[in-house]
Amino acid sequence: MPKYVYDFTEGNKDLKDLLGGKGANLAEMTNIGLPVPPGFTITTEACRHYLRHGGTPDGLAGEIGEHLAALEARMGKRLGQADDPLLVSVRSGARFSMPGMMDTVLNIGLNDDSVLGLAKQSGNDRFAWDSYRRLIQMFGKTVLGIDDELFEDAMDDLKGEREDTDLDTADLQRLVETFKGIVRERTGRDFPADPRTQMDLAVRAVFDSWNAPRAILYRRQERIPADLGTAVNVVAMVFGNMGPDSGTGVAFTRDPGSGRQGVYGDYLRNAQGEDVVAGIRNTVPLQELETINPPAYRELLGIMATLERHYRDLCDIEFTIERGKLWMLQTRVGKRTAEAAFCIATQLVDEGLIDMDEAVIRVTGDQLAQLMFPRFAATAGNRRLTTGMNASPGAAAGKAVFSSERAVELAGRGEAVILVRRETNPDDLAGMIAAQGVLTSRGGKTSHAAVVARGMGKTCVCGAEELDVDTHARRFTAPGGIVVNEGEVISIDGGTGAVYLGEVPVTASPVAEYFEGEPAGDELVRAVDRIMTHADSVRRLAVRANADTAEDAARARRYGAQGIGLCRTEHMFLGERRRLVEDLILAATPKERQVALDALEPLQTGDFTGIFTAMRGLPVTIRLIDPPLHEFLPDLTDLAVKVAVAEERAGEGADDRDRRLLAAVKRLHEQNPMLGLRGVRLGLTIPGLFAMQVRAIAAAARRVEGARAEIMIPLVGAVQELEIVREEAERILAEAGVEAAIGTMIEVPRAALTAGQIAESAEFFSFGTNDLTQMTWGFSRDDVESGFFGRYLDLGVFGVSPFESIDREGVGRLMRIAAEEGRRTRPGLKIGICGEHGGDPDSVHFCHGIGLDYVSCSPFRIPVARLEAGRAALTCAESDTR
Ligand code: PEP
Ligand code: MG
Repeated sequence: MPKYVYDFTEGNKDLKDLLGGKGANLAEMTNIGLPVPPGFTITTEACRHYLRHGGTPDGLAGEIGEHLAALEARMGKRLGQADDPLLVSVRSGARFSMPGMMDTVLNIGLNDDSVLGLAKQSGNDRFAWDSYRRLIQMFGKTVLGIDDELFEDAMDDLKGEREDTDLDTADLQRLVETFKGIVRERTGRDFPADPRTQMDLAVRAVFDSWNAPRAILYRRQERIPADLGTAVNVVAMVFGNMGPDSGTGVAFTRDPGSGRQGVYGDYLRNAQGEDVVAGIRNTVPLQELETINPPAYRELLGIMATLERHYRDLCDIEFTIERGKLWMLQTRVGKRTAEAAFCIATQLVDEGLIDMDEAVIRVTGDQLAQLMFPRFAATAGNRRLTTGMNASPGAAAGKAVFSSERAVELAGRGEAVILVRRETNPDDLAGMIAAQGVLTSRGGKTSHAAVVARGMGKTCVCGAEELDVDTHARRFTAPGGIVVNEGEVISIDGGTGAVYLGEVPVTASPVAEYFEGEPAGDELVRAVDRIMTHADSVRRLAVRANADTAEDAARARRYGAQGIGLCRTEHMFLGERRRLVEDLILAATPKERQVALDALEPLQTGDFTGIFTAMRGLPVTIRLIDPPLHEFLPDLTDLAVKVAVAEERAGEGADDRDRRLLAAVKRLHEQNPMLGLRGVRLGLTIPGLFAMQVRAIAAAARRVEGARAEIMIPLVGAVQELEIVREEAERILAEAGVEAAIGTMIEVPRAALTAGQIAESAEFFSFGTNDLTQMTWGFSRDDVESGFFGRYLDLGVFGVSPFESIDREGVGRLMRIAAEEGRRTRPGLKIGICGEHGGDPDSVHFCHGIGLDYVSCSPFRIPVARLEAGRAALTCAESDTR
């Protein structure tokens, strides 16, 4: 039988899969001798069993009993013992941190008897009754599913104008009775007095909270697998609410916003942990602890230094001080902003804690992409309303909205919104996702809003205390009596914490400017430069660009592209040239057709000359025309109406060209154009079309010294198609005296499955994973994402759209087959990818793992792909990027 329960002394930080992050790190801290209250962890395996079978596994209750007995023996008191109760907290903690998404219950073990024992032992009646009311409230909300507002309202009624801390023992005793009444009324039963029952129910509630809607939503956002389950930690309670010499706090070992070293945290006197994270009461900066309790402060700084050295990274911690004594309740490698991630990684290298390989692994392509976001330009034209805390960077502007629902609603209509709240809680998650940015008037850098926004890479300003936020009236009032109502535009700066009225224009980020060629200036840009240089030195995958114009090609080159992996030529047939394509389609004789092609050829030659010039010395893969020709013709309905109207007019016939065009549009109409006359099929059907393009490529290559052309045939499904095109292309190239490799896209499942044959005629492969995904799943790529993918994501059919990240099991399997069989026929066959996935971090890792030679992506994604290619080379093959 598996072991389901581990004492803190039995675990360690590497057991996160089994003990969750919190449990594994509590065990690690215990083992390195830090002051952690004793306790034990129920494994994720027990949770998975519970979720699968709807009940706890055999033996779990017994194991919990044994560990509880050991804990009781160690503490010298029993859970809920009437004269001197042991109290415990029951805390969730999954493999991946999901801040605030799952449940925790504190003060388990209190009832009408043990509250008296606790009062006597602590010599503090008020504390005992405050703990009891907290238990009923938390238990009522999390375990019994009672709306927390009922408890909050009861408390507000009692408080009137007073603070929580002003409530005296008699008030709290009254509140306990009121709360018990709420439980009775809402559940039809009394609040359970038996301590073990309280504990067992709380454990189940934590298991259940894995599937709470907000947890599901968070996992989907963060790409955390849905089947991991959570561990449950049962920890002996220590109390931050025992009086003014007690308190609770959260801290980071460095600034999670910038990476700078120093003391960053919040402290709240006479309170329990949840009060800080929820931002319910205003905290003081951690530095003030130095005056409040100097020894505890010094010990805390010492522990933070120990943790940084031990974990070799920024850590965040939660601690409690009970009557002057410091206890560590949690640590983990802390979430940080993208800027801090890069700075900290290189700082740790300079401090000798990690090497450059590790520094590259410690940052992600998504973080790099965030750093390339624009920031606010001069803000002089906008009125600054206030400055809050710079909780998560970036610049965001949008209409102020005051509820999560409204944020979702307006964002759904394509409007940019800023979610404004007094503080956020996990129920605001949907609104935070929908909004451009989040602004709160309360809570510190470690409040829910700050932590979650940073994790999402969303701009956030929190603790803007000068704002009076009235969510009911849907407005806030800024200093000077300025009222901002719902729908008015505001701008927030997550880098400085400033809040502006109106829309502030944005400017390029220094990191983007660095990629454009500016020298590395400030610490952040220098860190990016060092990490990129190292990633480039270790990566095996080359990175190319998808670029169709000379400008895009030049930008791609500045961003580090090593060639063009996909130059789509169809964009070159639009605009004024459309008429020439119409001529081609309307041509009634070979001669007329040739006239149209002859008109297009010099234009194409010019296009390719520009691109070859921008990419001089680097390979340029030019794909021959791909979409169905009718895409270049007018819309059927518009044209039909135009012709009909003209014919109606007395004495006038419709324009002859329009009539012929209408006939052509009807002739070329297809029910499923994506599966119709496009790609190589077009080349084989319209004589001279591909030949014209090949001639233009050859002419341009002759013009530009150092041009390295590669010709790519789209939509090939059978080697015969490729052979026919190749024969003609080779003849044209030979006549022109130009050398160019001829290869194919692999974007039809049949091409992947017959890649061994196709490689006989192809000098390179490039995976067109947009079409390959479309055709493997049978999903129309232009329709499904906005159609029913939302529902599919809700249902968990997949965690991320297969058009965004390669579906490894399906599409990925075809790619693997094609790469293996292609190379069996032609060892050394060059293989790349040019679908959108080429710039997706997870897909880059997959491409590295299956041995591709390069990835190709849009110019702006090139730095991301370079970094991820480096990370893929340093981590195990096919590693995922989460
Ligand atoms: C593809 O299908 O992945 C591809 C790159 O081609 P397009 O997107 O132009 O169809
Ligand atoms: Mg395609």
